[in-house]
Amino acid sequence: MPGVDIVIPDLSYLVKNKNKIRGVVITHGHEDHIGAVGYLLKEVNTPVYGAKLTLGLLESRLNEMGLLTTASLNVIDDQSKISVGCFKLEFIPVNHSIPDTYAVVINTPVGIVLHTADFKIDYNPVNENVTDLNRFSELGNRNVLLMMADSTNAMKEGQSMSERAVGDSLDNLFRKASSRIIVASFASNIHRIQQVLNLAEKYKKKVCVFGFSMRNNIKKSVELGYIQVKRGVIIEDFEIKNYKPKDMVFIVSGSQGEANSALSKIAFMKHSKINIEKNDLVIISASVIPGNEKYLYRVINELFKNGANVIYQALNEVHASGHAYKQELRLLLTLVRPKYYMPVHGEFMHMESNALLAMEMGIKEKNIFLLENGDVLNVYPNRITVNEDAKINVGSSFVDGHGVGELGDDVLKERVILASDGILNVSIVLNKFDRKLAAQPVIIPVGFIYESESDDIIRKIRIILDEDIKKYTTTSMSINELQNSVKKRLRTFLYQETKRNPVVLPVIMEV
Ligand SMILES: [Zn+2]
Ligand SMILES: [Zn+2]
Repeated sequence: MPGVDIVIPDLSYLVKNKNKIRGVVITHGHEDHIGAVGYLLKEVNTPVYGAKLTLGLLESRLNEMGLLTTASLNVIDDQSKISVGCFKLEFIPVNHSIPDTYAVVINTPVGIVLHTADFKIDYNPVNENVTDLNRFSELGNRNVLLMMADSTNAMKEGQSMSERAVGDSLDNLFRKASSRIIVASFASNIHRIQQVLNLAEKYKKKVCVFGFSMRNNIKKSVELGYIQVKRGVIIEDFEIKNYKPKDMVFIVSGSQGEANSALSKIAFMKHSKINIEKNDLVIISASVIPGNEKYLYRVINELFKNGANVIYQALNEVHASGHAYKQELRLLLTLVRPKYYMPVHGEFMHMESNALLAMEMGIKEKNIFLLENGDVLNVYPNRITVNEDAKINVGSSFVDGHGVGELGDDVLKERVILASDGILNVSIVLNKFDRKLAAQPVIIPVGFIYESESDDIIRKIRIILDEDIKKYTTTSMSINELQNSVKKRLRTFLYQETKRNPVVLPVIMEV
């Protein structure tokens, strides 16, 4: 949304109930899990619990917001047993597309609640262990009351691909590459970045990293020991000229085709350090998030036009999802054997698939909860019900610059129009005494007509203005009425002429 930097959930319920909050537990360092934490801490300064990498990534954010010194950050790992209010928490390591992801076991006074976090089961992971199935199996013997499970891939049959298999595909591509290799990925996909670095070492290539978040995350991960790389493999941009094209690998951000990302700039020859060249091999090692297709395809088309070879997910196994497919969910359900089940994380359709899967696995339909954000679930000893009367307002808040607030719908609509349809500025100066024009109206169209059409359109706008002003001069029309009439007529006219709806801003002064 234009001019809106970030969309976060409405925090007002939490702020209103801040005396009941004992802490925030973060399962992993992905944007959708840490993005709003700073905004919450601003209002409610409560302890935060998370693994080392998770808190490392969060720290950079809190630092930017000036909250680092006041925040209470507490590192947890698979051995931790912590008390948060009346809850006792344990953490089970799971595989996901970022290291240091933990499922959370919440021992409550009325029973055990399990939150799986975003997870998958990778039997051949990179730099970490397989999701700790022993711990889940132990948990299964402790009468889990409620299990909340990741639904993102619950509609997909089978088993998600192993991160290692992605490494094999990448290895094939690296081996055959005859010129530069450009790899675009999510900046948080530390395992993927590690694999690219390993391959660079294996094939004696140098790596240069572009993109703010990509550079930042790699630096942080090397610092904290989540990425291992030999000295001298990663080089700075001024050193590129010392190496042959076939000895260079670039790791860049922009796997979703974002307009200002490194990949997009490279494709459109707008990057200050490198541009796309014939025979470059571009590997887009990410899935495209629904809605981003047209942006990414625009970039891919441009890369092909400029002579590069582009490998993306549809062509080759260069990406593995971080979320469990049906087989993985079935396995976890079999081990944990909860009484109640609640699909979480995903669109409603994904949660629906997850609910059906749980039913097939023998969980009673009435024990499965398909809830929406803001619904309230009451957990009693051995019994869970949806509280139909309570509904919490958790709509979106828009963060504009540095303030959180509800920007009105009008403001947002206006910004959408400004961005896509342009503006027409009209200033009219009238003589107070004879109500006639004191000077020629100034007409400035911004961003919606081509130079070639502009003279003709401006001439027609003048005719409309003349008619309106004549009416003003000869009747008792007010300035306000004149303004509204100008606005309305110009909008209709511009739509007919250009099929666009620019914002019309008439400014009328009397002298
Ligand atoms: Zn995640
Ligand atoms: Zn997530």
